[in-house]
Amino acid sequence: MSISEFDIIGRFFTDSELSRADVLLGVGDDCALLQPPEGYALAVSTDTLVEGIHFFAGTDAESLGHKSLAVSLSDLAAMGAEPCWVSLALTLPAGEADVSWLEAFSDGFLSLAGQHGLQLIGGDTTSGPLSITVTIHGLVRPASALKRSAAEVGDSVFVSGLLGDAALAVQQLQQNELPSPSIRDALELPDPRVSLGMALVGIASACIDISDGLLADLGHICKASGCAAELELAKLPLSDEMRAYIKNTADWRKVLAGGDDYELCFTVPAARRQAVLDLAGELDIPLTEIGLIKDGNGIRCLDQNGKAVTISETGYRHFHD
Ligand code: ADP
Ligand code: MG
Repeated sequence: MSISEFDIIGRFFTDSELSRADVLLGVGDDCALLQPPEGYALAVSTDTLVEGIHFFAGTDAESLGHKSLAVSLSDLAAMGAEPCWVSLALTLPAGEADVSWLEAFSDGFLSLAGQHGLQLIGGDTTSGPLSITVTIHGLVRPASALKRSAAEVGDSVFVSGLLGDAALAVQQLQQNELPSPSIRDALELPDPRVSLGMALVGIASACIDISDGLLADLGHICKASGCAAELELAKLPLSDEMRAYIKNTADWRKVLAGGDDYELCFTVPAARRQAVLDLAGELDIPLTEIGLIKDGNGIRCLDQNGKAVTISETGYRHFHD
């Protein structure tokens, strides 16, 4: 590494865009000291991104800084928690981590953190194959957290944003095609649905963020809640490019089982459906009703004629059993 560990921390990861009053001690000591308010639970989540597995080698450093935080913010969003503090463990290849890469990475990371009121409070910096681990801390009242286990038969299933564009970008990049800017942004610059997650407290029954594909992640809600779901393919929110791709290939796997969407999938009792539709207008985020929670288990997908269809892969999994 052309720059020392302590220079890296001091130059790029010491000054957050904001300093929170509840951070009694931030970067620089053996531990950070944080003061959570009374009546709140800490919502904590960790994610690792490894070069060559979770992102292409050579991905733009600023995008990577953004995305490595966005995936963690998405977890907080899925619990309805308010983002507060974050720590960052960076493993950097010797020789490759130059000043301009670090500058761009920390810009992407810290500017997204600043937008969400998050302070960087510590981390670790080591040498090895490029990998980024983020631990994020948020606050939520224990009774308000949006768990996976509270969906009920008869609830509507909603999803935010558009599905499948990130998976389309991955395929295009693998085939050396140039994705359009909006498709590339879906992969590299996802916009975590933090304000939506917090607004869904008291409205949604269950919630999850879609990181491994709609079927896999809605499947987690169904399993945790002891119920089934029925989805109508014709209702799934798609970009024009995804619509054209499906028209050409009849391949629904990117939409249903692609990874990296970072949208929220949530269930809503009938009495609160209108509140969701109102929220879509207030937050200016597309929120689409795509199906219903049913008795039983598993997920059924219906085509435009109401006929059940089979999808071969349920989502991205690291370990196959
Ligand atoms: P220790 O040896 O006690 O683990 P380190 O030398 O690893 O301490 O880190 C020194 C300080 O810098 C600690 O406060 C740690 O949290 C912080 N730190 C290290 N790496 C990072 C990073 N990538 N981002 C933010 N803070 C970091
Ligand atoms: Mg350390």
